[in-house]
Amino acid sequence: MNRYNLNENSKARKVFRILGPILLGVGGVLLVISFLSLISGGLGLFFLGFIGIPVLFVGGVFTSLGYMGAMARYSASQTAPVAKDVTNYMVDNTSESVARMAGAVVKEIKGESKPVQCETCGEVAHPGAVFCDNCGKPLAKVCPKCSASNDQNARFCQKCGEPL
Ligand SMILES: [Zn+2]
Ligand SMILES: [Zn+2]
Repeated sequence: MNRYNLNENSKARKVFRILGPILLGVGGVLLVISFLSLISGGLGLFFLGFIGIPVLFVGGVFTSLGYMGAMARYSASQTAPVAKDVTNYMVDNTSESVARMAGAVVKEIKGESKPVQCETCGEVAHPGAVFCDNCGKPLAKVCPKCSASNDQNARFCQKCGEPL
């Protein structure tokens, strides 16, 4: 299914694709909580519904913005689009977004997407950068054994323990 994704490099669309389903999920959960609170008689959490509806709405808008272009291209590439294929396509994309999201979360936890500051000139480098884009000094020590990237002042590889 990668052939449908060749031209989808738009950052905004990726953000919409990730945020859309998240907001849809959050809005849905808020609505369910609000509904449960309503039928159980305790109105304590009913106000969540008033947050859930706009969140759900924004999630829907983001999701459709994120997938609109892809849907249009998909339709254009098919002389007779079948509903089942479209559904599969949506499911594929959703699981891809989830995978991307999970990857981002894992990176966040491992600290890989943390901005690095250059010790030589103080420039804040892009997350994952290996060399400073201001002075060209290396920002991280790359392990000769397992090629994991380590802090500039690390003495041993954080992944395999190799002396650096
Ligand atoms: Zn620098
Ligand atoms: Zn290593």
